[in-house]
Order: sequence, then structure tokens, then C-alpha cells
Amino acid sequence: MADTPLLRIRDLKIDFRRHGSPPTQAVKGISLDLAQGESIAIVGESGSGKSATALALARLLPEPQASITATELSIAGHHVLKMSEKELRQVRGKEIAYVFQEPTTSLNPVLQVRTQIGEALALHRPEVKDREAEILRWLTKVGITEPEKRLRAYPHELSGGMQQRVMIAMALCCHPKLLIADEPTTALDVTIQKQIMELLATLRRDLEMSMILITHNFGIIRGVADRVAVMFRGQIVETGPTEQILSHPQHPYTQALLDCVPRMGAKQARLRTIDYAALGE
Ligand code: ADP
Ligand code: MG
Repeated sequence: MADTPLLRIRDLKIDFRRHGSPPTQAVKGISLDLAQGESIAIVGESGSGKSATALALARLLPEPQASITATELSIAGHHVLKMSEKELRQVRGKEIAYVFQEPTTSLNPVLQVRTQIGEALALHRPEVKDREAEILRWLTKVGITEPEKRLRAYPHELSGGMQQRVMIAMALCCHPKLLIADEPTTALDVTIQKQIMELLATLRRDLEMSMILITHNFGIIRGVADRVAVMFRGQIVETGPTEQILSHPQHPYTQALLDCVPRMGAKQARLRTIDYAALGE
């Protein structure tokens, strides 16, 4: 059905219980829809609940320490809170794929590039006959130069930017409907950040895929995200089209975050402290 969103989140709450201490309410009832092919940026400072939200969508949080509730949490018609572990394995990789901040920790250090991507293909697209050709195709698609040479490379032989390109190839070769990129460029140099964001934007359009881009940095989302949801202390405080939020932020927290964006061409970000008293907190 054309009018059914790909992703539907209603009143999502996530608590972390720790022995002997009161639970942390990481996410306090957020609601969000994402259409097929649409991209949204979730922007908020560290600790606001962005990653917890992202991981909950494929039930990747450690349960039962993490308690997840929602009146609805569905992706492509799958109700993820009602699914068995076996069913969830089909959702992970096939419906939702992730790219995380640190490619060095996400890649297996003892496996060659072709093995890492090959394993993802074997699991989710076993029908692919010429796996090596498909791996080469993806390495080329994500902008890896001399892909034949890189097939046999180990992660430590690649730069951070190249590692992140391999992660993106691994995530996308399974044709997920939704890519979640959680701070995908935070660990990279500024020039490489820009290249990776452009790559994600291009691939998203070419593949007509939905994307959730998670970042603390408003500076990287223009041209990549159609919409923005601003998260503050476990809640979405403002949402709207990207250009509108960038030019006319309504919530004081959004304004404070935008003030933290380094000016174009500035060598270093100015460190500014957000004035919580002014936010009524
Ligand atoms: P963000 O990605 O926005 O930086 P997170 O979603 O990682 O924030 O964290 C939100 C809150 O949940 C933080 O207070 C964090 O300490 C807590 N939290 C996240 N993951 C865990 C976990 N596995 N166990 C306990 N607390 C967690
Ligand atoms: Mg995070």
C-alpha cells in the first residue's frame, strides 16, 4: 500500500535497568514515520537517546536490561516487538542495515574485505551465484579505487575512510529497505566526512532506499536528509523539513545546536556550552 509508511514508531520508550540503581529513561515516548525512499536526520547531543532508538528498531539492545515498549514499532509491516529471534535475524541486514561510527570496531580485523562482504551476501542473498563479481561491483559503487587489489586487504591495511566505504558496501549489498547510519563520519577527517556524506546521499537516491542519519552535527545533513527530528533528553522536541529547520529553528535547543555548528572553512569547531537554564531545564 502506497500510503503505509516503511517505518512507524508510536510512543517508543526505552529504559535501561541496572542492578541496584534506578532505571535510566533513555527514550521517553517518541513517534515517527518514515516513507519508503525518504531520509531523516535525527540530531541531538551525546546521550539524548539517538543510538538507543536506532538499535531498538531491529531489537539490537541487550534485553532484558533494556526494556522497550511502544504502541507500534513496525518496519515494512513487521512488528518488531512481537517477533522471535529467528524472525528478527531476517529483519536485520535484509530490511534494516546499520553503519556505525567506528569502522575499525565494526569490521572483523582477521577477515579480508571479500570475506566480510561475502558473508553478508551469503546470509541475505544466497541466490547470488558469482559472489566475487558482486563484491567487486559493490566496492566500485562505494568508490573504492583498485577494487581488485582491495578484495584481499585486511581492515588495518585500509584508511578510516576506506574502511567506512567497506562498511557501507557490506550494509547495502543486502538491499536493505532502510539504512541507519549512526554518526557515520564522526571518527573521520573533515574532508573525508564530506565525501562519505556525499556517497551516502548518492547511494540513497540511486537505490531509492530510506535512511536515518544520526548525528550530533547539524553541519553535515544538508542535501542528505529530507527531514530532521531534533532529540533532546529522550524526546523529539522539533521536527520538520531540513531547510526549514536549518533556516527557522523554533525550539531553543535546536537553535543552541545550530549555534554549535562550526562555520564553513573554520579550522576548529568553536566549543560552546549549551545553556540549559535558558531551556527551562
Ligand atoms: P546518543 O546516541 O544520543 O548519544 P544513547 O542512545 O547512546 O545516546 O544513550 C541514551 C542514554 O541511555 C544515555 O544516558 C546512556 O547512558 C543510556 N544507555 C545507552 N545504552 C545503554 C546500555 N546498553 N546500558 C545502560 N544504559 C545505556
Ligand atoms: Mg550514539
